[in-house]
Amino acid sequence: MFEIVYRYDPAFPHEPVPQTPAEAMAWLERGNHHFATLLDVPSLTEQSRRVLPLDPRDFGLGGTDDKAPAQEPFAAILGCADARVPTEIVFEQGCNDLFVVRVAGNVVGSECLGSLSYAVHHFHSLKLIAVIGHLHCGAVTAAVDLYMQPGKYLAFATNYPIQSIVNRISPAVRGAVLALRRVHGPDVTDRPGYRASLVELTVVLNAAWAAFSLKQELADREDSPLGVVFGVYDLVSRYVRLPIALSGPGTPDTGLHPPPGDERAFEQLGDRVADGAFIRALLG
Ligand SMILES: [Zn+2]
Repeated sequence: MFEIVYRYDPAFPHEPVPQTPAEAMAWLERGNHHFATLLDVPSLTEQSRRVLPLDPRDFGLGGTDDKAPAQEPFAAILGCADARVPTEIVFEQGCNDLFVVRVAGNVVGSECLGSLSYAVHHFHSLKLIAVIGHLHCGAVTAAVDLYMQPGKYLAFATNYPIQSIVNRISPAVRGAVLALRRVHGPDVTDRPGYRASLVELTVVLNAAWAAFSLKQELADREDSPLGVVFGVYDLVSRYVRLPIALSGPGTPDTGLHPPPGDERAFEQLGDRVADGAFIRALLG
């Protein structure tokens, strides 16, 4: 059995909020580590529990007047709409901690950018933007399948909303194709796990690309520094990580990462992931 308990205890005052991008990143990584290890028990019959402290003022309780609580997130998250990736739970955060934008494939469309821009310019508490992709992403899989079988694109010829999502993922698909060829040779397309490898490598590059775009658009806030990072949620290990090593006990490469700064750095990221044990195992 495992429990996640939200608790207000007046004997334990609310923790001070992060004051820098590095602190905000450390909070998210620590919360994800707590969540990932919640089920690291000998068996599911063992009891495992996490207690998340809450501030009642975030729910309009205990204040000195009847004003609604101010919005004070320390991080903004752009994540996929996938139901298996519940943002606050994955990072073990409570009410008023995260400004969350979720859209299939965690792509940066104009509405998402507008929402995040609002948060960046209105919430002084905000120290970090994190783009969170995830393995086995359906939107990324659709983009990969359309790349591998372009004829299927005809089915979406008049479906502009779907086209919009898939088209935004296409540069990452192309980057993943080239990385797999560079690392494993031109015959990589014949390997049994080529499609699965292409999906997961695209997930990484798509999240990195979105973070790069947001950094270009939003990170030059004048009054206080703003960090921009990305990570990939592993549905099996429950860690946000770069899927380079195989997931398992002591999963390495966990945490959040700054996006590559230029074309060469994107290539190096693609090659590093393509050359890892995770992708090699998928290729078969
Ligand atoms: Zn997804």
